[in-house]
Order: sequence, then C-alpha cells, then structure tokens
Amino acid sequence: MQQKMNYVDIETRQYYHQANLVYLSTIALDFIIVPILFFTDSMIAFYGNLIGMVIALLAVYLNKRKLYGISSFLFILTITLLGVIQVLLFGLNSGFMYYFFNMSVLIVYTKWPKRLKLLGVIMEIVFFLGTFLYAIGNPPIHPLTDNWITFLHILNFLLNITGVANSAYYYIRIASDAQQALSKLAATDYLTGVNNRISFDAYMKAKKTSFHKTKRPFGILMIDVDHFKMINDKYGHECGDSVLVGVSKLLKEERGNQDYVARYGGEEFVYMTDIFQTHTLSEIAENLRKRVESHVFMYQNKAIKATISIGGVFISRDSKASDENWLSSADQCLYQAKSEGRNRVIVEALV
Ligand code: GH3
Ligand code: MG
Ligand code: MG
Repeated sequence: MQQKMNYVDIETRQYYHQANLVYLSTIALDFIIVPILFFTDSMIAFYGNLIGMVIALLAVYLNKRKLYGISSFLFILTITLLGVIQVLLFGLNSGFMYYFFNMSVLIVYTKWPKRLKLLGVIMEIVFFLGTFLYAIGNPPIHPLTDNWITFLHILNFLLNITGVANSAYYYIRIASDAQQALSKLAATDYLTGVNNRISFDAYMKAKKTSFHKTKRPFGILMIDVDHFKMINDKYGHECGDSVLVGVSKLLKEERGNQDYVARYGGEEFVYMTDIFQTHTLSEIAENLRKRVESHVFMYQNKAIKATISIGGVFISRDSKASDENWLSSADQCLYQAKSEGRNRVIVEALV
C-alpha cells in the first residue's frame, strides 16, 4: 500500500512542481514584458499582461489546492488569448505566435482527459490559423519600431523554446521516476516490504553469472519460521502476518543494507551475503536466529514469541558444486535443522 502511494506521489508531486515552475516563471518574465508594453504605450497589451500575471498567480493558488486541471486550463486559455491579442496588435513578426505552439505542448503535458487535450490542441490550431490569416491580410493595430519588434521576437522565441524544452525534460523525469518506483514495487513483497520471489530469482540468476566470472565467495541462508501454523491457529492469520513483517524487519536489521533478504514464499525467507569464510556465515546465521528468538512480537497487546530454523551453504572460491544445487543444498540443511529440533542453524561449505 505504502509503495503504491509512493508511485502516485511521485507523479502528482512532479506535475505540481512543473506546473508551478511554468506559472511562476511566467510571472517573473512578465516583469520584463509588462514595462516594455508600458514604455511603448501598448496599453491594451499592458493591461492584458497584468491580468495574465494575476491569472498565473491564481493558477499557483489553485495548484496548491490540488485543482491541477482548472489551474492549467485557466493559464493556457489566458496565455492563448494574450497571444491572439498581441499578434493582432504588433503583427506576426513580434513572435507572439510561438505561444500557440508552446501552449499545445503544455496541453499535452497536463492531466486533462485525452479528449479535452485533443480539443485543446485543435483550439490552439484554430487560434493560430485565425490569427495568422488575419495578421497577413491586415496591418498591426499598434505598430512598434523595428527594434522593438526584433527584441520582442528574440525574447518570445527564447522564452518559448526554453519553456518547451523544460516541459519535455520534466515529463521525461516524471516518466523515469515513475518507472523506477514501479520496478521497485514489482520487486517488493507486498506484505513484508523485503524483496519478493521475482526479485530473488533475478538476483540469483545474476549471482550465478557473477560467481562464474569473479569466483567471489558468498553464502545462502534459507530461513523458515518454526511452527508458524501454530501461531496462525492460536492468534489468527493477521497476527501471523504481523509476525512475518516483524521477522523480515529483524532479518534486514542484522547487517543493514549489506546483505540481501527476500521472502521466498509463505513463512520462508532467503538471505544472501558476500562473506569469505564458512564460520562467518555460521555467525551471521546464528545472530539472526538469536535475534528472532530473543524478540517479543507484539500484536494487539499480545506478546508472541517465535523462532526460526536456518539452513545455509557457503560457496567458496574453489567450490565445484553445480549452481543448480546451491539452493537445494541449503534447503537440505534447513530440513536437517528442522528434524534436529528447530530453532537452530546448520551451515555447510559446498565443495
Ligand atoms: P515448521 O516448523 O515445520 O516450519 O512448521 P510450520 O507450521 O511453520 O510449517 P507449515 O509448512 O506446516 O505451515 C506453514 C504455514 O504458514 C501454513 C500457512 O498457512 C502459513 N502461511 C503461509 N503464508 C502465510 C502468510 O502470508 N500469512 C500467514 N499468516 N500465514 C501464512
Ligand atoms: Mg515453518
Ligand atoms: Mg515452510
């Protein structure tokens, strides 16, 4: 559940940041454009851009209130209308035409429903064509000097190119962060938060390849909760679940992030560690066993005790055992630990 939230969070947070960046940079850039309009006595555009600034501020506010759709709609509509007005006022060369292109890209990046996006882009095309056709047939309503036109054209060009590039960059980041969160989710056990079986299989496959290349020794521990069925029967399945969560936590805590822990299935875990000697593996296993044995699991004010049995194999640099047998050998040791009375560790070196 926690993981699912994270995935949604990443998306929402980034849309929020991206939209805010667009709105706030529009306000900032209006501080350049608005005085120019004032000094060139372009009062319609001056007031239009002042309104634009207010709308951008309103969009920031609506964004904060999680009204992403409405805020982007208001903003895009305002900038589009300002585009129309300013092309008519200053002519095609003023560069205000670029805003139709920029707004079409923004529409694609909003969280609007698909149909509204399509409608939005079509409207931008209609505004563009209408304004363009009108502007080539009619002189500007408020002509500016060539210098101002060149300046505005370059400014508008740069702003729009930067805006489009920035949106594309953010969108790629949203996608890649979401993808990472999903991959993590796919590799995580739903109940305990440790790696799941899918992740373990991939990990093991990679381990086999790397061992044959590097001959770096390591250990595998198969861990099974003792008489777990009794815990379920006595305290209920949910209590059993909470014990599994607790055991996973203890296994992870043992050596921080150095080692690899996965839920192999049911109440069985697998623990992989890069170590150089069999006795180190035995020590780690023994520590894990003691850690669980001494822990008191609490569930709804009930104190529950649990133990684990561990079977492990150490794969040394010179080990000739087929990698096919690594897991089954560890499993045999686990079986032996169970049959010898449980709550114990059996570790052997695979030769
Ligand atoms: P042993 O000491 O021989 O391992 O005995 P055991 O009772 O632990 O082993 P057994 O295989 O007989 O029972 C395992 C139980 O684990 C049976 C199954 O219902 C329970 N179990 C498996 N997955 C889960 C789970 O996700 N949650 C809970 N609460 N129980 C589970
Ligand atoms: Mg068991
Ligand atoms: Mg079992």
